[in-house]
Amino acid sequence: MPSRNVRAALLGIAVGDALGVPHELRPRYELERHPVSGMDGWGTWNRPPGTWSDDASLSFCLAETLCRGYDLRDLADRIVRWRVEGYWTADGAAFSVGRAVEESVARLRSGAGHPASAGLRRERDNGNGSLMRVLPAAFYVRGRPAEERAWIVAEISSLTHGHRRAQLACIFYVEFALGLLTGRSPAEAYRVAVVEFSSRFAGEAESRHFERILSGKLQKLQRKDVVSSGYVIESLEAALWCLLASGDFRSAALAAVNLGGDTDTVGALTGGLAALAFGLESIPAEWLSALARRDDIVDLADRLSAALGIE
Ligand SMILES: [Mg+2]
Repeated sequence: MPSRNVRAALLGIAVGDALGVPHELRPRYELERHPVSGMDGWGTWNRPPGTWSDDASLSFCLAETLCRGYDLRDLADRIVRWRVEGYWTADGAAFSVGRAVEESVARLRSGAGHPASAGLRRERDNGNGSLMRVLPAAFYVRGRPAEERAWIVAEISSLTHGHRRAQLACIFYVEFALGLLTGRSPAEAYRVAVVEFSSRFAGEAESRHFERILSGKLQKLQRKDVVSSGYVIESLEAALWCLLASGDFRSAALAAVNLGGDTDTVGALTGGLAALAFGLESIPAEWLSALARRDDIVDLADRLSAALGIE
């Protein structure tokens, strides 16, 4: 029996991404007047309903790699193929590519050096471009010691985002997802992730950027204080806030898109977690049926669960 969790995660990412694609960069005040309520199309990128973007594409590249084991060079090759050939794109071409991803893909293409040295590592390179593709790593690191989990996730981030802040955001996100995979509620997964992350990383200077998350009170923020930007910390906060404020997949994913701004990435980040929290069956059927390459995504999920021996 293929893992429902792996299917849920990959489909949740793609659905959240696709919900956001037509509305990317739209200001919040506009969405407050006319909220998104379903799977629209066209809009910002002029793509049909159900078209997902780089967030899902790069998550699927990681899932493909993990079907064959943990191999950064293999992942680097797939990321380059995505950018150059349209590998694992919804409709044959990459679009909406972030600056840091673009620059690191150029470095990965050159083939020089270790793939983990390709990622940019200046403070201003802390976009959400590694966070948005890291969720499949949760299935690979599950059951490994905490230090090894953190090391692997940081290395996966480093292909495009090598700054410690982006790495730590990926680590928090994956640890939160692992909590959901053990059956914890979002509130409980958040509480445990905060305690464990604080005890392991409080000594690192970068952890101060996680102050709002580590306060354990993110769910108490008002919507106006949640920023849906491309900055990795704000994207992570936004996705966690949407999940913690919602009781089902539909409301979590729509809350993410209706924040405006980086709608597709916050949608993907929220969608992946929400699908793990509320289950595969919580993803609305009409959204799944609109999704580009749905059968391919299910096939990838089933291959990943078989490769990792996940029931
Ligand atoms: Mg995108």
